[in-house]
Amino acid sequence: MKMSQMYSPTLKETPANAEVVSHKLMLRAGLMRKLSSGIYSHLPLGYKVIQKIEDIIREEMNKAGAQEVLLPALQPAQLWKESNRWADYGPELMRLKDRHERDFCLGPTHEEVITDLIKDEVRSYKDLPFNLYQIQTKFRDEIRPRFGVLRSREFIMKDAYSFNADKDSLNESYQNMYDAYAKIFTRCGLEFRTVVADNGPIGGTDSHEFMVLADSGEDTVVFCNECDYSANLELAESDIEFTTEDTKFKELEKIETKDAATIEDISNFLNCSAKKLIKSLIYQTQDGYVLALIRGDYQLNEVKLRNLLGVANLEMAPAEELFNDTGIVTGYAGAIDIPDEVTVIADPSAMSVVNGVTGANEVNYHYINVNPDRDFNVDEIADIREIKEGEPCIDCNGELTMTRGIEVGQVFKLGTKYSDSMEASYIDNNGKSKSMFMGCYGIGVTRTVAAAIEQNHDDYGIIWPKSIAPYSVHIIELGDSKEIKSVSEELYTDLKQSGLEVLCDNRNERAGVKFNDADLIGCPIQVILGKNSLEDDNIEIKLRQTNEKLKIDVSNPVPKIKELLAKQN
Ligand code: ATP
Ligand code: MG
Repeated sequence: MKMSQMYSPTLKETPANAEVVSHKLMLRAGLMRKLSSGIYSHLPLGYKVIQKIEDIIREEMNKAGAQEVLLPALQPAQLWKESNRWADYGPELMRLKDRHERDFCLGPTHEEVITDLIKDEVRSYKDLPFNLYQIQTKFRDEIRPRFGVLRSREFIMKDAYSFNADKDSLNESYQNMYDAYAKIFTRCGLEFRTVVADNGPIGGTDSHEFMVLADSGEDTVVFCNECDYSANLELAESDIEFTTEDTKFKELEKIETKDAATIEDISNFLNCSAKKLIKSLIYQTQDGYVLALIRGDYQLNEVKLRNLLGVANLEMAPAEELFNDTGIVTGYAGAIDIPDEVTVIADPSAMSVVNGVTGANEVNYHYINVNPDRDFNVDEIADIREIKEGEPCIDCNGELTMTRGIEVGQVFKLGTKYSDSMEASYIDNNGKSKSMFMGCYGIGVTRTVAAAIEQNHDDYGIIWPKSIAPYSVHIIELGDSKEIKSVSEELYTDLKQSGLEVLCDNRNERAGVKFNDADLIGCPIQVILGKNSLEDDNIEIKLRQTNEKLKIDVSNPVPKIKELLAKQN
């Protein structure tokens, strides 16, 4: 591609409102432009990278035996009502009405559509298993679209769905997809980890996420220094033991605590450590109010609590409603004398507190010298806390470490969640009707582009892994002498004929502008054609990944360039 003909508007200045590196660089290098919040147009260079990733995904999915389809993005609400997700998915679902006032949505994922597609035509165990995938635009009305295409409202996803006769067959399909994903992200040149993950609104039982390691990642990846335990912080457990201090229980006392309501206010007011406080958080669920207790120096893990309660949504109880229903005052909640209709769940950390402090369910009052076993009842003791770095591993007692990651893919065992609710059954080899087992498998294609940049860049621009670089070689013509033009033209043709993708900067621009743009765009090999080097029968090469410069003979450069390219990541 000649840059004089390419639509690739680069920017010198860092665009306002772009917080993370990938977002800045994708705008600056002319990969994409914003249309509206969380909605982007992909320009030629950016779309080329997307297509490279899609090609890798297609190859590996086909090799793994999956078959490509294309399903509608516009989906009737009826299907989502069958699976109960019209209610459960919440405001992230982009809903709309047609001219007849019928409800539709723009697909955030396709479990309903695909189950509906196959359920009447797959009849027998002989038709199973199979796996269908598509690469398609998805829509999610994210509460906080941000970081460019890392969290956008419209994005490209590869989603695959396996249909299996039983659990064993599902396990095989799941492993097959897991392995394919590892190959895909390895081929994309990314450093990643797989972690045990929460199923979220997709549902099902087991799940793994593929995390590209990067400081800007929104997820926290927990892993053990000694064994292969790794989990998303949302699910991570540790083997920490909470022992109770061996002190005499003091007499329970209700005291006035003025305006102190937060953990910090209270520990300042009473001059005690957060470890003495029993944090009491009240949630509202479809099954009523829940009081969650946790020691003051820990954070509650809402995913663990949601899974424990088996509810789709968990929200902090609205203060006024809570007070009217139960008499409990937000900010002063506590387990002592709590009305029976509130379910109390305590983390072991909270149960270990001795002579501690809790709210008294009354404005400006707390109890001190609280001892859980003596002073209140709980419905269940369970791990509902966010673990901390350095705690012992649940599997081997080694030390747990944390790092940041970007979730680029996730695989789920759905079991019979959708086939039960949508009645997708088959006749087994004993003539009995059974629900199909399903798995689903997603990769965020556009998010992967951004994740690759988060992991591979420097102060000057993007440093593409060669497998997903828009072009392998970037020729920079300096000056407009006939000699340079003709060497450039010949090299451009020869490199292309040898099968390489080549970008040639033949624009009428200053050398500095061309060098900056080449570093910004980030192709692995830069070939610099200037008068000085040609006089010595050399052409200059710059390797973008190491910024190393070298000279090669002008007489037969193609094999040497290919050799250098082969050595790049
Ligand atoms: P997240 O937890 O980041 O919101 P998710 O777990 O809801 O993502 P999945 O339902 O697992 O997402 O979707 C499959 C893949 O689609 C994700 O692994 C991710 O790569 C991508 N993806 C999901 N939401 C977005 C988004 N808003 N913007 C870009 N990519 C996304
Ligand atoms: Mg996910």
